Amino acid sequence: MRQLEANGYKVTHDAEAPNGEIAVINTCGFIGDAKEESINMILEFCQAKEEGKLKKLYVMGCLSERYLKELGEEIPQVDKFYGKFNWDELLADLGKAYHPELNLERKLTTPSHYAYLKISEGCDRHCSYCAIPIITGHHVSRPMEEIVEEVRMLVARGVKEFQVIAQELTYYGLDLYHKQMLPELVERISDVPGVEWIRLHYAYPANFPEDLFRVMRERENVCKYMDIALQHISDRMLQMMHRHVDKQQTYELLARFRSEVPGIHLRTTLMVGHPGETEEDFAELLDFVREAKFDRMGAFAYSEEEGTYSATHYKDEIPAEVKQARLDKLMALQQKISAELTARKIGQAFKVVIDRIEGDYYVGRTEFDSPEVDPEVLVPVSDGELEIGSFYWMKVTDTDDFDLYAVRADRGGRYEQ
Ligand code: SF4
Repeated sequence: MRQLEANGYKVTHDAEAPNGEIAVINTCGFIGDAKEESINMILEFCQAKEEGKLKKLYVMGCLSERYLKELGEEIPQVDKFYGKFNWDELLADLGKAYHPELNLERKLTTPSHYAYLKISEGCDRHCSYCAIPIITGHHVSRPMEEIVEEVRMLVARGVKEFQVIAQELTYYGLDLYHKQMLPELVERISDVPGVEWIRLHYAYPANFPEDLFRVMRERENVCKYMDIALQHISDRMLQMMHRHVDKQQTYELLARFRSEVPGIHLRTTLMVGHPGETEEDFAELLDFVREAKFDRMGAFAYSEEEGTYSATHYKDEIPAEVKQARLDKLMALQQKISAELTARKIGQAFKVVIDRIEGDYYVGRTEFDSPEVDPEVLVPVSDGELEIGSFYWMKVTDTDDFDLYAVRADRGGRYEQ
C-alpha cells in the first residue's frame, strides 16, 4: 500500500465499498472457512467490476499462491492472480517503480496507535493437519536490527502498541542465529522509548524459550498475555497431530506461565474433529478447558487440507454435524469460563488504551485484550472526554458476557508510568 502511495495512488483499506481504479484483494488459504471467505470476497469484487465500480481487479496472498492456475481458470474476471507477496510484480504490471528506500515503511490499516509487527514468515513445524508450511514455506526470521528499526519508525509516527506476530513465534532466530531469540528480540523492542505495550501472538508449546518468562515478568511494557495454540490435550490426538508435546508437558507449561508471570492471561486455540478424535478424546478436551480456565479461547473444526499429512494418511471420517456439535459445546463451556473470569475484574482498576468512540461509549482495551478478538472496555462518553490512542486508569464497574464497563479511576489526568 505504501509503495502504491509513493507511486501517486490514493490508497484506501476498505473491503466493504469496492470502488476505484484498481482493487487488490489479499487472501488467506489456511482452512476451509478462510478459503470460502476469500473466494466470496473475490466474487463480490468481480460483481463490483462488472457494475463498473472498478477498472482492474488483482488478487494476491496465500490462497492465490496455492491455487494460482485453478483460480485464474475459474474466475477469469480477475485481471491477474499473484503469488503470496508478489507486489513488486504488481507494481511492474502497473508500470510503476519500486521504491527500495521505503522498504520498511508501511501504510497502517489499524488505528494509528497500534500496529501488527511480523517477525518471521513460514513455519518449520510439521503439524499433521496444517497447510501453512506448504503455502508459506520454511521459517524465515527477519533480522533483529530490521525489526527494531521498524519499531522505531512506527513509534515516531505515533504507534504505542505492537502486536508481535508470526506463524510460530518461539522458532524466531533458529534459522538466522541458530538459537531461539524471541526473548532477546522482545527485550530489544521493549527498550525502544515510546513502546507502551508489546503483545505476543501465536506461540508453539514444545521447546518453549524459557527466558521469555523472565522477560514477560520483568518488563512492564510486555503485556502479561500469551496466545499459545494448543490444539488438543489427549496424548493420542497430540501424537496424531504431530505436535511434539504431550498432556503432562502442556499442563506443566501452563503452570509455569501462571507461577512465573503473575497475572498472565492465556489465550489458546483448539481443534475439534481431527481424524481419529473419539468421544473420549473430546471429553478429555472438555475437561482440560474446564480445568485450565483459559482467559480466552478460540476453536475450529478440522477441515482437510490438500497435501497435508492428515489428508494423505488419515480419513476425514467425523461427520460435519458431529464436528459442529463438538465445537458448539466447547465454545459454550468457554463462554461461561470467560464470563466468570471477566466478572472478577469488577471493582479493579486497569490501564486502558482508548481505540475509538462508538455511539455513547469510548471503546478501549486493557493489556489483556488484543484488538478484534478479545473483550473491550466500554467507557460512557458522559464520564468525560478521552483522547483516542491515549492510556488511562479505568475502574471496572460492570461486565457482560464478553465486555467490561468502566469509568475513569484517575481524575487527575492520563496514565503515567
Ligand atoms: S506450528 Fe502452527 S503454523 Fe506451524 S505447522 Fe503447526 S499449526 Fe501450522
